[in-house]
Amino acid sequence: MTQPTPPLRAAILPVTAFQQNCTLLWCTATMRGTFVDPGGDLPRLKAAAAEHGVTIEKILLTHGHIDHCGSAGILAAELGVPIEGPHEDDRFWIARLTDDGAKYGIPGKPFESDRWLVDGDEATVGELTFAVRHCPGHTPGHVVFHHAPSKLALVGDVLFKGSIGRTDFPRGNHQDLIDSITQRLWPMGGDTHFVPGHGPMSTFAHERATNPFVGDAALAA
Ligand SMILES: [Zn+2]
Ligand SMILES: [Zn+2]
Repeated sequence: MTQPTPPLRAAILPVTAFQQNCTLLWCTATMRGTFVDPGGDLPRLKAAAAEHGVTIEKILLTHGHIDHCGSAGILAAELGVPIEGPHEDDRFWIARLTDDGAKYGIPGKPFESDRWLVDGDEATVGELTFAVRHCPGHTPGHVVFHHAPSKLALVGDVLFKGSIGRTDFPRGNHQDLIDSITQRLWPMGGDTHFVPGHGPMSTFAHERATNPFVGDAALAA
């Protein structure tokens, strides 16, 4: 992956059978960090934090799906750290984590977020500040984290390289997803690199030029 310039560093750690991109993010000034979407495979995540010498101070969540947050409550309890995110509208997904976990073979445990996020909030990691954008569509409570100085966004299952998030789940909404992408992601700037929930990184400019669902040509058609 392309490493953003310090003081932010990131390591992408695909977890669970869904190969969900958990991101270990940290502030090099303080060596304090976070896991964004620690869905599962906790021993590997904790080993990665130790390997990089990062002290985890909180967990950040993009949305309530099992592969993104099934094990978040378990990890928060183990580490004694708070959970921030997602938006409260994903409560119904978090409430079903035990059942979904059993279905997909991922340890799933419902939890209460220590801080539900809303559009315009800020989330800090060490000395880094991330802007929070509410991006519903894939799930109603999906949020995205943006670190403007590093031109980096963590977009969960809103947008992928060459694709977009599914909207056929309960309370999914295709138009909401399109609006989230075009009105909340594109304004972050074409040179913004993004970590999607699955698969390789890309930039917003690349997606506007080539994405068959939300590229400029596709939306103009
Ligand atoms: Zn999802
Ligand atoms: Zn996912």
